[in-house]
Amino acid sequence: LAKQRGRNQWCFYDPEIQSALEARNQLERDLRLAVETQQLFLVYQLQVDIEGRPFGAEALLRWQHPQQGLISPADFIPLAEESGLIIPIGYQVLRTACEQLVRWQAHPATDHLTLAVNVSAKQFAQADFVAQVLNILQQTQAPRHLLKLELTESMVLTQVEETIEKMHHIKALGLAFSMDDFGTGYSSLQYLKRLPLDQLKIDQSFVRDLQHEDDATIVRTIIAMGKALNLQVIAEGVETREQQDFLARYACDAFQGYLFCRPELAEEITQRLQQYAIAHPAPWMMEAPST
Ligand code: C2E
Ligand code: MG
Ligand code: MG
Ligand code: MG
Repeated sequence: LAKQRGRNQWCFYDPEIQSALEARNQLERDLRLAVETQQLFLVYQLQVDIEGRPFGAEALLRWQHPQQGLISPADFIPLAEESGLIIPIGYQVLRTACEQLVRWQAHPATDHLTLAVNVSAKQFAQADFVAQVLNILQQTQAPRHLLKLELTESMVLTQVEETIEKMHHIKALGLAFSMDDFGTGYSSLQYLKRLPLDQLKIDQSFVRDLQHEDDATIVRTIIAMGKALNLQVIAEGVETREQQDFLARYACDAFQGYLFCRPELAEEITQRLQQYAIAHPAPWMMEAPST
């Protein structure tokens, strides 16, 4: 058949490519349905300070597929971005995260937790992004000072001026910004200092390979860079005590990783923090020492 179409015509009948394409299209249809039938849900991973005290969490998306089981965001976020589904998904994530923040206000063990939400480039680039965020804030009445948006370097590198302006608008609403996966992009110090950021997040690939000389150097440099810019520096993917010790030695401010906490359902996080509060009462909750 290909021959009949002549020399300049090309088509392929590679059955493997064909079935991969079909699987992709099926998954996109499934994702569309997943949004409508609420198969997507959030888990939360705690972030701890240098003393090991939990101060925040990151919201991470999960998809419970009816046939395929749990699908990782690494496998469906790219699809959501290509199909544009990331826009409704992203706002649903933000809304759910805001509702969770409100729920956490009910207990002193959780009412101080900051909550970080990942924002995809495509969503952030929407002309009405700021208006949509404001809308969700007003509807949920979430405590704005506890909400943090995570951006990545790549999305900030295109349309620099618009991005900076948008970030300032959102900062003015009371939210904070973190630069996620830091070190994997190409942002220069010159340019980084123009962004109204609050936190740098060291990408987990550097943390994983800390035993290598060059990765250790990169991590030390990122921490120093963050300090120079007056930003909180958090390391993600911390799995071992050795990694924590190295990071602490170079004055990394905070950690996120399996060593401290896996991503868990909100109720599990709440329980964990209530137990933590009992085991580590704040000074004002402790009994006065007897004299
Ligand atoms: P990320 O924002 O960099 O999130 C950190 C990822 O590292 C999460 O993977 C988390 O589960 C994983 N992680 C945390 N601690 C450790 C550790 O100690 N070791 C290892 N090996 N991994 C650890 P996850 O949940 O699979 O998410 C992957 C990526 O998908 C996220 O990377 C983020 O870019 C994206 N993503 C997740 N949720 C959302 C969302 O709601 N919206 C958007 N736009 N992207 C999301
Ligand atoms: Mg993130
Ligand atoms: Mg990251
Ligand atoms: Mg990542």
